[in-house]
Formats: sequence, structure tokens, C-alpha cells
Amino acid sequence: MTLSVKSKPYIIPEYSLTGDLLSYQACGLQYRYQNRGALPPSTPVQLWFGEFIHGVMEEAYKTWHEGPEALRFPLVWKDEIRVIEMNVNRRLRAKGLLPPPRLFCPYDETMETEGFCPDVNHPHKFLASKRTEAAINTWGPHLFPLIDNAEVKLKGCRDLVGYQPGVHRAQTYSVTGVVDVLSAVSMERAQTGNLILHYINTHQEIRAIIDDLLSLDYEIIIDYKGMRRPPMYLRPGVSNPTWEAHAWQVLTYAWLRSRQKDAQRPVAGIIFYLNELVPSAEDIRDLKIETKAGLTDILPTSRADKQALARWRKGSKGDALSANLREQRSIRLIPITEKRQQESLQAFDAVVKDIENSIAREMKCGSIQGCWKPNPQDKTCKACSFKIYCPAVKGKYPMSIP
Ligand code: SF4
Ligand SMILES: [Zn+2]
Repeated sequence: MTLSVKSKPYIIPEYSLTGDLLSYQACGLQYRYQNRGALPPSTPVQLWFGEFIHGVMEEAYKTWHEGPEALRFPLVWKDEIRVIEMNVNRRLRAKGLLPPPRLFCPYDETMETEGFCPDVNHPHKFLASKRTEAAINTWGPHLFPLIDNAEVKLKGCRDLVGYQPGVHRAQTYSVTGVVDVLSAVSMERAQTGNLILHYINTHQEIRAIIDDLLSLDYEIIIDYKGMRRPPMYLRPGVSNPTWEAHAWQVLTYAWLRSRQKDAQRPVAGIIFYLNELVPSAEDIRDLKIETKAGLTDILPTSRADKQALARWRKGSKGDALSANLREQRSIRLIPITEKRQQESLQAFDAVVKDIENSIAREMKCGSIQGCWKPNPQDKTCKACSFKIYCPAVKGKYPMSIP
């Protein structure tokens, strides 16, 4: 009797646009330690805030959608927004994501001790809460009425470029993401003075794409980011991979969305960089540097903003900039064209190929450090939990004893 051999389970590697593409681009070695190892980073501030603000915007939309009459903008933080924040915090906690101390107060009035806060007067409105309040009240009144489909799950399969049997894990990979979708119909119905429509209508390239369409069958996809607007360039003439990767992300989302049954043609993507609404002192310092070197696309134009930035010194307050500039810097529009979409898909394929090649190398030689590319950049490395034993920055960040 011959026994049949059980075939190996067929796996299709799954890649998420934010979790994989963007973090691999930031640093391949850090990505390996964080996402593919058992070691969670000890201070995932950006990870926590990114998930938190996304969750808050989604939950605020749902609450508004269930009873728009009951919820009038601007929402009051303590009475209306706080309950949303606490729900999202509970969900993140269940996933093992804990809020960094002094960024978010996780307690209510019943907490009798200080916990991680400076005193017992909970709830405290720390920076994360100032940002959720600004995000909901700045964009909610304009954005929520235009959303037609919230939290649309996107998934698609692509061939692994350069697949070699016996070397790579699978011939295809899947790519996933979640977006909110605005429809042309809801945009047509919008009240005059809608800020999102203003930005769309004054964007020449997007306006031209819409004007060329024969019908109203189009969509706009939305993504929220709990970060500041990245500069377009790292140095004069050197483009910033993060800036480009955000555009690819939206373009890939658009490709995935356009393949769904109920989809219309996506004509643009909007990314909200929500930290821009309440910049920290460090954010303003970075803006000052980027403005001076001409690295960022949205610059202060009013006299007051130019002066505020010129006068800004270390130790100055973070709220020096006008609401207008903060709003402009918090929204980025990306026109969606066939050509750009193909370029972004190729770029995404190339990143996945790189990751799969690193996995194949590691499986063969068993060493992490020799198989994953580090990308030492002071800002990323400073916040990296693995800097002490990373060979790329050996000795640069000595261990500090708390
Ligand atoms: S210390 Fe820097 S180069 Fe090393 S893994 Fe961390 S981010 Fe990458
Ligand atoms: Zn507190």
C-alpha cells in the first residue's frame, strides 16, 4: 500500500499597504524585527496614534451617520468626543496596543489615582485628544456628508515578480487595505461651502479628469494618517520615498477599488495628515527647516504665518500657525490616472519582491541582520527599539539607564 503524501499547505503571502509597504520602506531591518519577529516595538507611538485616529474618525462618522441631527458640529470634546475616544482605546487595548503615557489619558472620572497622568483630574486632554477634536471638527462637517461607503475592505491578488520555484514562498501575493469612499452623487448633493469640494474643484488636474467623464459615475477615496505631512524632498533635488509611497498607496487602493463590483471610477484620492491640525513644537521646528530649504509643498504664504515661523524658537509654543495653513497642510489630493496607477503597482510589486527575496535569503542562511536591508535615518533610528544591537548604527545610540 502506498501512502499519499500530504501536500504542503499553499500559502499566499498577504501584504497591507500601510503595515508592510510603508514600514518596509522606512527600514527593512526594523520591519523584519517589528512585523515578522515576535518582538513588538516597546514604544509604538506612531503605530498607536495612526490606528487611534483612524478608529476615531471611523467611529465619529458612524455616530454621526446614525443620527446627524443629534450631533452638531463642533462636537464638544468632554461630552461627545471623549466617549468615541474611549471606545477606540478599548478596541486597541484588546489588540495589545496601549496608549503612550501623556499622549492620551485612558482614565475616566472614577479613577482615583494618578495612573500615568500628572494628577487625578481625569480625563486629561493630552495631544492625542487635541488632535482628535481638531480632526473631527475641522473635517467632519465637510467630509461625513460626502461618505457613501465607510471602511470598504480592499483585497486583490498579484503575481510575484521574478518568482522562482523552491526559492520563494508563493507565485502570487495578496494586497489589502481599508478606505472610505465618496461618491459623485453625494458630492453633487453637498451644501455650498463644502471645503472638500472646494479643494477638489480648485485642483486643476482632478477637475480636468472629472470634466472629461461622460457621466457622474466616479468616486474619491479617503485615507487618514496620524502623522505630519511628509516633505516632498529629503534634500533639494532628492525626492522623499515616504511622500511617494503615500501616493502609491492611494493609487493602489484605487486599483483595488476599481475592481470591485459596486465601484465607480476612482478619480482622486485624499490623504488627511491629521497631526498638521495641532502640530507639536517638533513639527513646527521641522516645518521651519523644510520651508527654508524648499522641501515641502505647502508653505506659509500669509505675513502672519511667515513671521510666526521666523520667530519660532526651541521652547516656543506649538500653536503659532494660522488655522488656514494648518488646514491646507492637513489635506493632500492625488489625481488618479491609468499611467500613475500602473507605476504605483509596479513600485508595490518591486517592494514585495524585495521583501520576499529577504525572506528567502533568511530561510537559507538563518541570519536576520545579514538578510534585511537597514536604512539608517536619524529620526527613524532614534525612535527604533532595535538601535542598540542594529549593526547599521553601532555605538551611535548608547544604552541609557532610566
Ligand atoms: S536602528 Fe535604524 S537602521 Fe537600525 S533597524 Fe532601527 S531604524 Fe533600521
Ligand atoms: Zn488622566
